[in-house]
Amino acid sequence: MAEARDLLGRLPTAGPTRGANRRKVLLAVAIKSGTQADIAHRTLLSQATVSAAVRELAMAGLVPNAKERGKVGLSRVNDVGVGVHLGFNHTTVVARRLDADFEQVTSRVGSGGLSRGWRRALPEVKQMIDEAIAGTGQQRSDLFSLGIAVPRMISPRTGDFTPPILPPWRPGDDPAGDLGSWLGVRAIMDNDANLGALAERTYGTQEHAETVVYVKASTGIGAGIIVHNNMLRGHRGMAGEIGHVTVDPEGAVCQCGGRGCLETLIGADALIAQVRAVPAMSGMATPDTLEQVIAAANARDAVCMRVIHDAGRRLGQSLAQLCNLINPDLVAIGGQLAQCQLLLEGCAESLRRFALPGAVDESFGFTLAPSELGTLAEAQGALILGLRQQETAPSGT
Ligand SMILES: [Zn+2]
Repeated sequence: MAEARDLLGRLPTAGPTRGANRRKVLLAVAIKSGTQADIAHRTLLSQATVSAAVRELAMAGLVPNAKERGKVGLSRVNDVGVGVHLGFNHTTVVARRLDADFEQVTSRVGSGGLSRGWRRALPEVKQMIDEAIAGTGQQRSDLFSLGIAVPRMISPRTGDFTPPILPPWRPGDDPAGDLGSWLGVRAIMDNDANLGALAERTYGTQEHAETVVYVKASTGIGAGIIVHNNMLRGHRGMAGEIGHVTVDPEGAVCQCGGRGCLETLIGADALIAQVRAVPAMSGMATPDTLEQVIAAANARDAVCMRVIHDAGRRLGQSLAQLCNLINPDLVAIGGQLAQCQLLLEGCAESLRRFALPGAVDESFGFTLAPSELGTLAEAQGALILGLRQQETAPSGT
């Protein structure tokens, strides 16, 4: 059986050479099957170049002898791509044989997140990766690529945490190094909201959206921004940190050292505290988790409904500023809070109220929607990132 990594090991990683183009096309097809025109759009290669690369890949047995206009996907291969999302309260792992459709991922979700620290979480993460790979029918030695999503700022230059490294992460923690050396691949890490945006843009129905904002609203609040095919990371990986934009100069101090950040108002701790302040009114047992608040709101608990609806309005106010600044055509809301429609409704109200009307007008193609990939968005984005990295870094190095 053909192995994508065998061929990739023989192809150059850079330069406008035939081999580098073949590498690019092979990885684009592994990320998502598509017509040759789709692949040309995604890789920014000419259709003639894509067509030549597809013919050569077919001769190598990696893609079927596809017709010009048909969809190109990988032939049966053993290679597996894995994406890991290391959230605060949850860990999510997705694995997919690269010849399978992107929706056919095996996923594992662990309730133990990183709140207990990386060292203590590592054994469970390893076990989940093993289980997810086994779920594809393959084994650990078939691993081709690994991407990791973390709710922290990551330097685009070094791929490490951008200081200050906030808890539960500690200086010296190196998830990409630890998992990469265990698995024998070069792993890569990025901010989870960035990777949610990448997954939404790649696997959502709006693949041709030019400017995409993905908001991750869970324990913390962050945004990933894609402009014309490029992830906007910024000088030190801090782009999109809307959770730390000041919305109340007299508000509570935030763990970033600021005061009145959006996260101090609509982060999980703030929402839980609001509900706990009126337990008798809420009619529910005192909530300990954001999931409980969301479940109660979805069960029409009046207090929890109010708390989440108003959180949506607050989020919408900040997003309105962002919409005026970068004028996205798609704003996708992900994270746990997106599981409550009230958040979206509050958000839409504020966008209508505070953004330039033309910037959020659906009749001109603007879309505000929940993430199409749901709770797997960040892990799916990590899987894509791992594959993309192979353009420049051969597997096993
Ligand atoms: Zn802050």
